[in-house]
Amino acid sequence: MDCIFCKIIAGVIPSFKVYEDEDILAFLDIAPVNPGHTLVVPKKHYANLEEIPEGELAKLAAAIKKVGKAVKDGLGVEGYNVMENNDPVSGQIIPHLHFHIIPRKEGDGLKLWPQGKYGEGEAEEMAEKIKNKI
Ligand code: 5GP
Ligand code: ZN
Repeated sequence: MDCIFCKIIAGVIPSFKVYEDEDILAFLDIAPVNPGHTLVVPKKHYANLEEIPEGELAKLAAAIKKVGKAVKDGLGVEGYNVMENNDPVSGQIIPHLHFHIIPRKEGDGLKLWPQGKYGEGEAEEMAEKIKNKI
């Protein structure tokens, strides 16, 4: 078992757990973007969103909602970001599917990604390429 999150799920590596059920574990990120930054993970090892079956993803989504509300109410923050880095190129370091819940407060200084503009015809082309694969 090479995976750090599988080791956390198995209890081999300690963590600060905030929620657990048969299929899901949520625990504090060791290096928080903001205090209370929580990771929600399926107990079964899936590398990314493409690997997890839809039924299990639905359970994961329900847990994200539950933990997100607890983060908001428990920490008294005004909101939170839910984020998943899907594959290494997007910044995924741990290859075990997980969602970040990042508590947010007004003026916390956290800046999200810069945004750009489409060139002539580019949006149509992108939309077509995606639509054709669904
Ligand atoms: P990723 O970049 O893969 O989306 O995020 C992985 C996250 O796992 C990072 O935010 C990192 O701080 C966290 N992390 C890495 N190793 C450990 C660990 O041993 N324990 C905990 N609790 N979090 C970890
Ligand atoms: Zn794993």
